[in-house]
Amino acid sequence: CGIVGYIGKRESQDILIEGLKKLEYRGYDSAGIAVFTNQGLEIRKSIGRLANLEEKLEGQPLHGSVGIGHTRWATHGKPSDANSHPHTDNSQKFSVVHNGIIENYIELKEELIAKGRRFVSETDTEVISHLVAEEYDGDIVKAVQRAVKRMRGAFALGVLTEYEPERLVAVRFASPLVIGIGKGENFIGSDIPAILEHTRDVYILNDGEMAVLTQNGVELMTIEGEIISKEIFHVDWDL
Ligand code: GLU
Repeated sequence: CGIVGYIGKRESQDILIEGLKKLEYRGYDSAGIAVFTNQGLEIRKSIGRLANLEEKLEGQPLHGSVGIGHTRWATHGKPSDANSHPHTDNSQKFSVVHNGIIENYIELKEELIAKGRRFVSETDTEVISHLVAEEYDGDIVKAVQRAVKRMRGAFALGVLTEYEPERLVAVRFASPLVIGIGKGENFIGSDIPAILEHTRDVYILNDGEMAVLTQNGVELMTIEGEIISKEIFHVDWDL
């Protein structure tokens, strides 16, 4: 189970896949990525090894310089293509990768279904994408903050929306997440090895903290929306 994310100027697909390979040691049963292409937010995912996903991408590559990726260790819902991340909402304008468990997902799912949301997976994670979509009123950061307030459990999240393709939102609560600081590009990863090839300057998020990444900057805040500053951690070791 691992998360990666990229926002910059380079093609993101290979950066995401290479990052996920560095997280293989954490174990996984399926993998997927979402990339902003000229078609919008497009998702490819597959049960099994990263090689299965790579095979899909060979036939149908995703071109774009913003994306998120995930390797899944199933906790809710069997390993399958449909249950693999990234997950989206019915409008398909939002995309979410998640490590961890949403303990109150059944109650949230019932509430979202009553509001007319249709679920396509058996995962706890899918409630997050519907919840963010439901909370969205023009600001993805506020929507994520409101959604996270409703969630109990453990989560590291990467969130993208087609409405704001210049922003990548990351959240940490009881699942690890680091932010990689580059030049004209920024990264997220479950662990430093996922991004070490690209940068040695990282922010290590603590529980209840989030980051808003753009090509040229990273803003750090609490999930309550209070801006925070953090020392940059310089990685001086190699893989
Ligand atoms: N609970 C989520 C799922 O089963 C995420 C699992 C993970 O951390 O990979 O899809």
